[in-house]
Amino acid sequence: GATIGVLGGGQLGRMMALAGSAMGYRFVALDPTPDAPCGQVAGQIVAAYDDVKAARELASRADVITYEFENVDAGVAAMLMAESYVPQGSRLLYTTQHRLREKRAIEAAGVRVAPYAEIRSLGELREAAASFGFPCVLKTATGGYDGKGQWVIRGEAEIEPAWDALSKARTELVLEQFIRFDKELSVIAARSPRGEIRTFPAAENVHVENILHLSIVPARVPEAVQREAEQLAVRIAEGLDVIGLIAVEMFWSAEHGLYVNELAPRPHNSGHYTMDACRTSQFEQHVRAICNLPLGDPALLTPVVMVNVLGKHLEPVVARLSQPDEAAAKRNVKPSLHLYGKREAAPKRKMGHVNVLASSVDDALAWIDDTNIWKV
Ligand code: ATP
Ligand code: MG
Ligand code: MG
Repeated sequence: GATIGVLGGGQLGRMMALAGSAMGYRFVALDPTPDAPCGQVAGQIVAAYDDVKAARELASRADVITYEFENVDAGVAAMLMAESYVPQGSRLLYTTQHRLREKRAIEAAGVRVAPYAEIRSLGELREAAASFGFPCVLKTATGGYDGKGQWVIRGEAEIEPAWDALSKARTELVLEQFIRFDKELSVIAARSPRGEIRTFPAAENVHVENILHLSIVPARVPEAVQREAEQLAVRIAEGLDVIGLIAVEMFWSAEHGLYVNELAPRPHNSGHYTMDACRTSQFEQHVRAICNLPLGDPALLTPVVMVNVLGKHLEPVVARLSQPDEAAAKRNVKPSLHLYGKREAAPKRKMGHVNVLASSVDDALAWIDDTNIWKV
């Protein structure tokens, strides 16, 4: 079989390699941490992501190159394009690694984002905040994740501290109107070079301290909203000429409808539920798309709740799931554990996830509640 090279060796690369190995592909990851999650199940080149010599070695060992994070160095991307086959191209990376470029591309695809303004000075921030009202959200254009690089400005008095904190980041800033959403949703779409597009069912996402905690599927919103969310993702996949996966994060308010928050051009944490609950997983679908195979059927087979296992949850989760689970049997629930093989379990580090399959999302949520594990 062909060899797929992956920029990045974290859990997304690991799960991609596990799915793709079962399909007959070989994998090699580039990651600076020895024995990275993906390196444990595939070959690994141990070097920095922006090490051009290492990227050249990756290109020589792989038939197809993909990535598992969007902050790929532009020089490395250009080198890979010249020396290997990168079906996703570099434009999608260029667009999605910068919030302003991303918002403009989403709007150009005919999809709505929260009102925003580019901020280049404290004066511009004051002006934009006055027009959006409070709260509003100041974000760095590049490099943010898990809520890092943003500040919810709750009043006049926080304008200057927010500016002082974020203008240090040496990137452009964006101010967004605060959307009073009822639900956060995400849809993952796949598009192949032959132009085929499939979307996974919309997930309802619950964050705790800006880190994804639960993905609930089916999402508890009207079916028409689920369909509309899927249509927005298709429009974005087409408009941005996506190859592979695109994850589309959205806000939904019953009063005002859907707004897109941000994109990720790769497998996404909110799509991990597909591993056990869909006929095709997001990882298999990504491999199919970049290898130009016919896309798989994304149909949902069962209600499911994905719950993340952070470092602080790791010990109780492993203890709980290694014992016979009467509560699970009583509720007819199947918890399916996926660990990423990371050594250091820092309290907020993503160590794994559990896909809780059940007859209803309420049963799955009740089991999660029963365990008491995620209450801390
Ligand atoms: P991720 O880890 O998903 O990449 P991130 O750091 O890139 O996160 P965002 O997704 O932009 O950040 O924001 C994190 C969370 O903060 C959102 O999921 C949402 O709950 C909240 N949030 C962000 N922007 C807004 C907004 N304009 N209105 C309301 N809530 C917001
Ligand atoms: Mg983000
Ligand atoms: Mg986000």
